[in-house]
Amino acid sequence: MTEPWPTLLEIDLDAVAANWRSLGSGAAVGAVLKADAYGLGAVPVATRLYAEGCRHFFVAHPAEALAIRDHVPGAMLVVLNGLWPGVEPLLAAQDIAPALASLAEIDAWAAHARVCGRSLPALLHVDTGMNRLGLDDRGVDVLAREPDRLRGIDLRYIMTHLVSAECPDDPVNEAQRQRFAAACARLPPAPRSFANSSGLFLGPGYASDLARPGAALYGVNPTPGRPNPMRQTVRLRARVLQIRDLLPGEGVGYNGQWVADRPSRIATVSVGYADGFLRALTNRAIAYFDDRPVPLVGRVSMDLSTFDVTESPGLARGGWLDLIGRHNPVDALAEQAGTNGYEILTSLGRRYPRVYL
Ligand SMILES: *Cc1c(COP(=O)(O)O)cnc(C)c1O
Repeated sequence: MTEPWPTLLEIDLDAVAANWRSLGSGAAVGAVLKADAYGLGAVPVATRLYAEGCRHFFVAHPAEALAIRDHVPGAMLVVLNGLWPGVEPLLAAQDIAPALASLAEIDAWAAHARVCGRSLPALLHVDTGMNRLGLDDRGVDVLAREPDRLRGIDLRYIMTHLVSAECPDDPVNEAQRQRFAAACARLPPAPRSFANSSGLFLGPGYASDLARPGAALYGVNPTPGRPNPMRQTVRLRARVLQIRDLLPGEGVGYNGQWVADRPSRIATVSVGYADGFLRALTNRAIAYFDDRPVPLVGRVSMDLSTFDVTESPGLARGGWLDLIGRHNPVDALAEQAGTNGYEILTSLGRRYPRVYL
């Protein structure tokens, strides 16, 4: 093979589409594509979900919205991180809706609507406990008294974001549900957007006119501790550059963080923390050669990792190890790294060739 890449990231767009369909009726389920669709590639994912019937897309930054605008014609495209001074003309010209998160943002967007001489689309982001972005109680009070501040704004949805949706027993979920209902009752009438991925599994009280799943589309388990209802969407493989034999007592990699306690075969693989294969996986990750687990041994370095393949005599130079796959899904790697599936996916290296199935 003459391929220039020693790694391969396969992305199953059928699985993304199936995951999206499984989350509910299309009109009531959008798709969150921030951070390059959690590392899978925003344009291919947007194109596929649009073909599937998805008409509501969410990103974090205006630049992310611009990257997919032409691929989702006519669809609602929302910038979740809201509006900052000077960005209004760009959003208005491209029919991008900000999630307005403060009175200042509301006033700026309404003012720009007057400049444009037409109404401009927006969501209204109400904070119900996250305390990051969103209108606080005082802001809701003001808007309830002065609804004219929204004049010129085409209010598509009122939204809020759950703090602990993946923990169904956390009482903050119910508290947010009540605060959101109370805020919406005081604000001008508009459809509501509530649940993220895990919120969709909290029960009927968390249903709304438009859900905003991200992680579940990409195969992260929205119900941690229970079987994953979603399909895996990524497979990550890397090639073996060398296999070497170690004697007991010999160390591997930087600082000798692993020492052989038996005669061992060590495979050096072309993947490292510069690829988002996190350094925290040192001595922790489990890869697979076919159906056999092979443990990562020693430090993950920038471009290389080492695996104990003593039990896999069939593996040779040029062979492939599955770093994410059927036996070791994103959530398993996340647990080995002490993080969550979100961080594993959004860390997937730009250096990987992405092949879409
Ligand atoms: C990221 C994000 C989502 C999607 O969350 P998931 O847990 O990935 O489903 C929804 N809403 C907001 C405001 C977000 O920032």
